[in-house]
Amino acid sequence: MNLSTPIEQIPRVGPQIQKKLRRLGIKTVKDLIFHFPHRYEDFSNIIPISEIKQDQTVSTKGKILDIKNIRTFRKRMTLTQALIGDETGQIQAIWFNQPYLINTFKKGDFLFLSGKTNKKGNNRYLSSPAYERISDINFSHSDLTHTGRLVPVYPGTEGLSSRWLRFLIKPVLIKIRNEVKDALPKELKIKYNLPDFKTAIWQIHFPDSLEEAETAKKRFVFEELLILSLFILNERLKMKKERAVAMPINLEFIQEFAKNLPFRLTDDQRKASWQILKDLEKPRPMNRLLEGDVGSGKTVVSAMAALNVAKSGYQTVFMAPTEILAKQHYQTFNLALKKYRLKIGLITGKENRLQNKKIKRKDILEKASKGKIDILIGTHALIQKEVKFGKLALVIIDEQHRFGIEQRAKLCQNQSKTIPHLLSMTATPIPRTLTLTIYGDLDLSLIKELPKGRKKVITQIVPPQARKKAYDFIKEQIKKGRQVFVICPRIEPTKSESGKATNWDEVRAVKEEYEKLKKEIFPELKIAMLHGRMKNEEKEKIMKKLKEGRTDILVSTSVIEVGIDVPNATVMAIEGADKFGLAQLHQFRGRVGRGKEQSFCLLLTDFQSQTVNKRLRALINCENGFDLAEKDLTIRGPGDLSGQRQWGVPDVTMAALKDIEMVEEARKEAETILRNDPQMKKNPPLKSRLEEFQKRIHLE
Ligand code: ADP
Ligand code: MG
Repeated sequence: MNLSTPIEQIPRVGPQIQKKLRRLGIKTVKDLIFHFPHRYEDFSNIIPISEIKQDQTVSTKGKILDIKNIRTFRKRMTLTQALIGDETGQIQAIWFNQPYLINTFKKGDFLFLSGKTNKKGNNRYLSSPAYERISDINFSHSDLTHTGRLVPVYPGTEGLSSRWLRFLIKPVLIKIRNEVKDALPKELKIKYNLPDFKTAIWQIHFPDSLEEAETAKKRFVFEELLILSLFILNERLKMKKERAVAMPINLEFIQEFAKNLPFRLTDDQRKASWQILKDLEKPRPMNRLLEGDVGSGKTVVSAMAALNVAKSGYQTVFMAPTEILAKQHYQTFNLALKKYRLKIGLITGKENRLQNKKIKRKDILEKASKGKIDILIGTHALIQKEVKFGKLALVIIDEQHRFGIEQRAKLCQNQSKTIPHLLSMTATPIPRTLTLTIYGDLDLSLIKELPKGRKKVITQIVPPQARKKAYDFIKEQIKKGRQVFVICPRIEPTKSESGKATNWDEVRAVKEEYEKLKKEIFPELKIAMLHGRMKNEEKEKIMKKLKEGRTDILVSTSVIEVGIDVPNATVMAIEGADKFGLAQLHQFRGRVGRGKEQSFCLLLTDFQSQTVNKRLRALINCENGFDLAEKDLTIRGPGDLSGQRQWGVPDVTMAALKDIEMVEEARKEAETILRNDPQMKKNPPLKSRLEEFQKRIHLE
């Protein structure tokens, strides 16, 4: 048996158990022993039977003096009752609806029991205690698994109890733990006071104390962060060795472009543009993330980069996350770059355009491949799949952060030796722990300030009793000619058998809200709805009507989140606001406050608690997406953020991304390792762990 042994080959793992383990993502011995407990049951208080009181969590041991099943007719249950005795006294243990237990033990067996005590009349008894058989009363405690110690509780799945998992994991651990090569260098274990693999893997499952468990966990987290840092730093190095087209800065055009804008660029926009243009000047591929709050004006910065590329005779491809946004960007680019007579194309599932005229898909593909389109805008799925470019030099990605060397290379047809520069843009603020780790191979440009003259959006929490007032307020706004967004709560997607998330519940929530508003609350207003299950054509139509002011209220799922620009909308009402993360709520809020009028964000919630209020109040007091993201991270952990970029990083590490200190340490150590021993010749186990990690990421 070794780490990669499939679970089928573990003794006692039949087809039923295999299926359940797979559902937990456990396919190999390694997956199994890295399925860490999420908490421990403290059964370490071991006392003789006579000392057991009621309402206590205790462990005790004794001999079965009597055991029988009793049917209770009133409650239609079977009770298994065992009388246990030691030299100090006797106690009953009672299990509910587990009649088979009578065949598991017999009179005269020695048992170890752990659980809560209860009272029946004047007698205390052990209620459904955890149990395990021991050979005799003088049994050594160190061999206990389910009782009489700190007992691991695992995140499980239906029909696979923690008891089963302990039963499987323990013998595997005993077999395997001496054979695993420790990947963590010795100096680091000494420096950070971390246990070796063998100790840590045992202590995380079957700890001697909670401190030992904590230290063990810390060790695995540190190791994982170290590997992650090594991977990221290596990616950086790899990118530095690649070649890209170097394009001089066409200063004249750029200055003219900036001068002709209907507004003055903010200092941050200028700085970001300059960083990008300087990158494009180099024969190394740019790998830059442009991070700026909603409405901070990232699009115009990217347009400047595209202009510079076009003036050097090369192509830009712009990928948007949705068709609606692709079209919006297409219009923006056309408007902003009108003067330069560039060939700007649009390619989506429905519509293909070149210089504002409809064109056949085949023709647009051909022109792109011959380098005859300067800027091609579309959804990324489409562009990655079908389009090849003749002279591609810049890839711009809106609201999506990763694009590897391989993917970039695929887009280029006639350029064998170069790969395009990459500019990705996001309005999702990324906390520092993540820019150091999973985004650590990207250079960062920040747009922190919003354009001058934007009015602060007034944010308010609306508890149930204030709902009516909120609806009246919405009516008033619409009477003044404004428009309103209503976002429906996010419902945890239900996983179907295939493991694919469906958001039917969310769709249903939108439909219900739409019906309610239309029939009961605002029968006189024009209301529309939008959700992810609609046909693109239909979505386009709805967005067009909204932009033209022919819709008063748009009820929508979170699809509205990214990028939509409707300056006349002044109210963003979010139903079930407590169900969203702060950063996401902030994104929603960013959809309003884009025009001249005062805008409002209403956080409707039926659920009130201190934490909810604390979180939502943070939103009222804070306008800055960056600060909010840091706050969210400390309140909720990085869940949402990590979802955007799936890494197959264990949950423990994801949680550790909260810990800036450990992240910084791991990063520093990774730098030292790569500086002193880039091939990791002195560290074969570490090297092979890194290779494993690389393989996994590149497969994904
Ligand atoms: P985001 O960064 O969220 O993608 P956009 O690029 O869509 O933001 O810009 C939001 C709006 O702000 C657009 O209507 C754009 O024309 C406008 N804008 C961009 N830069 C400035 C500026 N410096 N001053 C005023 N308005 C600006
Ligand atoms: Mg945008």
